[in-house]
Amino acid sequence: MEIHVLIVGTHAMKETPDGVDVYDHYSTVTLIQSEGKNMLVDTAGRGKFPLIKEKLAEFSLSPEDIHYVVLTHFHLDHAYNVSFFPNAHVIGWIHEWKTGSTFRFADIENMEFIKGIKIIKTLGHAEEHLSVVATRDDGKKVVMAGDAINKKYVDTRELHAMAYDKNLYKQSAEKIMEIADFIIPGHGEMIEMKK
Ligand SMILES: [Zn+2]
Repeated sequence: MEIHVLIVGTHAMKETPDGVDVYDHYSTVTLIQSEGKNMLVDTAGRGKFPLIKEKLAEFSLSPEDIHYVVLTHFHLDHAYNVSFFPNAHVIGWIHEWKTGSTFRFADIENMEFIKGIKIIKTLGHAEEHLSVVATRDDGKKVVMAGDAINKKYVDTRELHAMAYDKNLYKQSAEKIMEIADFIIPGHGEMIEMKK
């Protein structure tokens, strides 16, 4: 299994007279290659598709070669370019508010799309948030965690991120830290866990 960070997500958000400009605020995009399958985790934000295409070309891949796109959650800085991968099976998870029940891949934690890759629910930042756990050939676990955790949380154990539910955010972040040897967050560089 090979894991390549194609784009490192930024934190850039600047105040403008009419609000917050999020144009240059986009997520990390990660390519996982295993057993002849290509999986992307997140697709970054508006204007980033040409860059994704360029990065895929470095691995002799085109957008048509992507078999799966996992969206950690449906915020536009992660999901904007999802429709540009015409052959991809899109993996996401939705919590249904009205009944509290789940639909669409409700059983996602027990589904194995590619051997060695598991998907876990990591709620808190968003109600549909999930993370991807990939076990490398050397046994180390890499968690592509979207916005379920960030470097500041790892360093301080304090919540510095947006969360609709702070307790769930902390539960998810702790779960990720327990599993991970490496965390690839939705914004910022990869974090190596000291174990
Ligand atoms: Zn984000």
